[in-house]
Amino acid sequence: MVNIVLIGKQGSGKGTQAKLLANKFNLKHINTGAFFRKHIADKTPLGIIAEKHIRKGELVPDKYVFQLIEESIEPHIKGLVFDGFPRTYEQAIYIVKRYEIDQIIFLDLPVEIARERITSRVECHLCGKTYSLLTAPPIKDGICDNCGSVVGSRADDKPEAIDKRLSEFVEKTNILIDFFDKDGIVTTINANDVVDNVNEKVSKIVGDLI
Ligand code: ADP
Ligand code: ZN
Repeated sequence: MVNIVLIGKQGSGKGTQAKLLANKFNLKHINTGAFFRKHIADKTPLGIIAEKHIRKGELVPDKYVFQLIEESIEPHIKGLVFDGFPRTYEQAIYIVKRYEIDQIIFLDLPVEIARERITSRVECHLCGKTYSLLTAPPIKDGICDNCGSVVGSRADDKPEAIDKRLSEFVEKTNILIDFFDKDGIVTTINANDVVDNVNEKVSKIVGDLI
């Protein structure tokens, strides 16, 4: 059992890396943002509440995040990759009470580059595959390579919401690095590099734990 947490600004590539890690090491990918988007699409009570916050680029209040986590995580044999959780001090306390965290991987990226990456990001509305209009666009304009569905901007990838999310990170999530660093379990990786290079580094870290 190995439990990994990826922390990084929006645009740092933590979703991409989490997915790669989960496939490679057969871990369960816990992506709270995607879980909320599924609730929003299904118009559940939790989705209706989350949508109001997400649209504005705010964090969803902790109690709803805990509700989401409780219903999403079943016991999983090989372990978990947390992507987008924890994001607040209270969430960090919550996770250490319930899970043995083996490693925090901090994907470090300057804020200007994060902003540039999110601005050029598009996502498939059906399967969730993400593309970068700058570096890795879909083969056919506006059409998902994976499933043929429509590709477009995420509702919260608008300029005002992007700035709000980046400042939420600085105000609320950055402190978690020091919080976990006390236990000596944080490794910082430069996320300002191509996907394969970042993947090589994070895979090495996780491979050594297994
Ligand atoms: P990003 O990291 O680019 O913001 P995500 O898909 O991870 O994208 O999250 C989208 C939104 O979902 C966040 O802006 C936030 O409103 C909400 N969210 C996701 N995870 C959490 C969390 N752990 N705590 C609070 N809100 C969250
Ligand atoms: Zn698709």
